[in-house]
Amino acid sequence: MAQKSLLMVGAGLSGAVIGRHLAEAGHKVHIVDARDHIAGNCHMYRDAETGVNVHAYGPHIFHTDDEEVWAYVNAHEVFLPFKNRVKTTSQGRVYSLPVNLHTINQFFGETLRPDEAKAFIETKADTSITDPQTFEDQALRFVGRDLYDAFFRGYTLKQWGCDPTELPASILKRLPLRFNYDDNYFNHRHQGMPQNGYTAMVESILNHPGITVSLNTRFSRDQAKDYDHVFYSGPLDGWFDYELGRLGYRTLDFERFTYEGDYQGCAVMNYGDEEVPYTRITEHKHFAPWESHAKSVLYREFSRECGPDDIPYYPIRLVNEKAMLGGYVERAKWEKGVTFVGRLATYRYLDMDVTIREALDCARLAEKAFAEGGVM
Ligand code: FAD
Ligand code: UDP
Repeated sequence: MAQKSLLMVGAGLSGAVIGRHLAEAGHKVHIVDARDHIAGNCHMYRDAETGVNVHAYGPHIFHTDDEEVWAYVNAHEVFLPFKNRVKTTSQGRVYSLPVNLHTINQFFGETLRPDEAKAFIETKADTSITDPQTFEDQALRFVGRDLYDAFFRGYTLKQWGCDPTELPASILKRLPLRFNYDDNYFNHRHQGMPQNGYTAMVESILNHPGITVSLNTRFSRDQAKDYDHVFYSGPLDGWFDYELGRLGYRTLDFERFTYEGDYQGCAVMNYGDEEVPYTRITEHKHFAPWESHAKSVLYREFSRECGPDDIPYYPIRLVNEKAMLGGYVERAKWEKGVTFVGRLATYRYLDMDVTIREALDCARLAEKAFAEGGVM
């Protein structure tokens, strides 16, 4: 087999997983990242003042049903049990999320059992909506106006910067609605936190003699000619020099503050009221309950429109973006010598487990194509 010289643009999960697989297959892998650290948006760092391991780009909880992906991450880091239990503050009270029997009983001052709660919520729901298309219709159909106004309307306005009537129902479908006291945010079989953080996990993935990593290195297209193939996990529109315009994203600002002790008693507290300018507060030490820290570091999280110099976080995917995306996807099909991978280059919201799954699948296809002497 002829050894290929490969470039991964991005040292996040996509670049690291593909790079590792192809390095193991005998290829020479160079990974560049514009940032001064590995692990992309999953990056974590030890806060110098408090000693807490901080999720630099917002809270990341690993959850999956994919056995191979679960085995993969466990081979690179010790995963300790962690259940994401989110609270929300609304109209001066604290409730449990996702909406579950406790939330319903607290909110309505009731002591309903599961079947009673189901029947009760059905009386609140707008049953005239038969096939909800928008976020708002999905909420009104399944939880009704009161819970929608308290927990979803204000939060979503802040998070997405537009009215929930303009957003697709699929965004809300990500959240479960439960008529029992299960307050686990996710439904997956496996859920956990890496003992030493995601950066340590990615460091282990990158630890292979066939891989070299260059940080603080921004990729430009003229570098591609020095390699047999490029795996690109940067923004799709960036590859094409934004020739059709910029795909819309939301970016996040994090306002750091510290506290002597325990500030909020949980890892994530959401804020449902529109008047509170931030969407949530993350208290990072609660993501690692096996560590002990007297002092606490917290992030207030603000969402806003992403400018050209901001970090893109959430793809918006409204009508404009979908049309522009179609144009870029069409161009991408004709590009030779490059594979577009990961959340930015495919302009999708991807959880970590899906990112790893797609990276493994992509790396296997590439390995096969290179072994057969073909190109991708
Ligand atoms: P990224 O992590 O974005 O990595 C891409 C890398 O490419 C970056 O490091 C970037 O600097 C680099 N790059 C881009 N362009 C260039 C260029 N031109 N030159 C050089 N380098 C470049 N998933 C979960 O499973 N659970 C969660 O709880 C969760 N929480 C999240 C919370 C937030 C706020 C967000 C935004 C995402 C969350 N995710 C979560 C998703 C998770 O962050 C992604 O699955 C993962 O980061 C995708 O990895 P990636 O390698 O595709 O992209
Ligand atoms: N959401 C909300 N209130 C909350 C939590 C979530 O209105 O307290 C909405 C919000 O629009 C969010 C969507 O539900 O984008 C999906 O929630 P998830 O926790 O998956 O949020 P994301 O990953 O988008 O931050």
